[in-house]
Amino acid sequence: MIPNLSAAELHQLSCESTEKPCEFCDTFQCDSWETLPTNFVASEYPVIGHCRFEGSENIWEEYHPDKTTMWSNQSPIALQYYPYNRSDVVQCNHCKRVYLRYTEFGGYYVDQRIRLVNPCLILLEEASS
Ligand SMILES: [Zn+2]
Repeated sequence: MIPNLSAAELHQLSCESTEKPCEFCDTFQCDSWETLPTNFVASEYPVIGHCRFEGSENIWEEYHPDKTTMWSNQSPIALQYYPYNRSDVVQCNHCKRVYLRYTEFGGYYVDQRIRLVNPCLILLEEASS
């Protein structure tokens, strides 16, 4: 059973990743959302969680309070918003870096995308009553 992860849990996981060189991760760059690299070895990146929640598939709004765009490497990782609210969390078997993946279904294409989780960019949920 793969758990749904909260922002706090994702933050914790991404803080645990190491900075050591990695023969898999170092072959691509995805500080912002990128099309899944052709050399991405999915078997080395098991899914460890999801970021879905009740009704999340109906939320298409993005979160850019600082005028970032979805393609900015500074755009916040806001799990309540698109596309984070339908992402899978994968983790490298070797260096423990954590990534988000989702599939974009365009009118005429399907695009698998990936983004490295930078803990500094995660929007931590405000405690609700
Ligand atoms: Zn790695």
